Amino acid sequence: YTGKTDSPALSDEIQKIKVHHYQSRPVIVEQSTSVYEAICTMFLEDCGTLFIVDKQSTLVGVVSRKDLLRASMGGQAIETTPVSIIMTRMPNITMCEKEDSIIEVAHKLISRQIDGLPIVKKVDVGSGYEVVGRITKTNMTSLLVDLAKNEGT
Ligand code: ADP
Repeated sequence: YTGKTDSPALSDEIQKIKVHHYQSRPVIVEQSTSVYEAICTMFLEDCGTLFIVDKQSTLVGVVSRKDLLRASMGGQAIETTPVSIIMTRMPNITMCEKEDSIIEVAHKLISRQIDGLPIVKKVDVGSGYEVVGRITKTNMTSLLVDLAKNEGT
């Protein structure tokens, strides 16, 4: 399927949709948290990506399911290993802001082959980012369902 459509109205509609229309609540853990605790949090919060922050609540990294699986297989003591050791860290984090277009986020998810992005807000010049939300492939699926519902209206 080429994605080509005779309906410019639909693509115009999609361009107008912003990240904040489909965002989820972020699940955040502090960087000294153990890998074991992070796994518990992922189960309890039913999410696939954790955002890691420092004591000032500034974004420092991301931990995915596979990061935690890898750490668990490695024979390290997961009760004492902090997530900061295994996370993907800044400045290599792909982020977005709540006013960004949702299609920009979809491009980032595909090109970086990741499941989700933190939605961030710049705290102060030079002092990093605060995490205000999360946007994932699941949110993209909801968007698709909504578009299908409105089709022909
Ligand atoms: P999984 O590893 O469970 O399949 P992802 O595909 O989202 O989940 O993650 C793949 C890798 O990319 C992991 O090592 C993870 O730390 C990293 N990652 C996930 N989200 C981001 C992001 N927003 N920015 C940078 N790296 C990320």
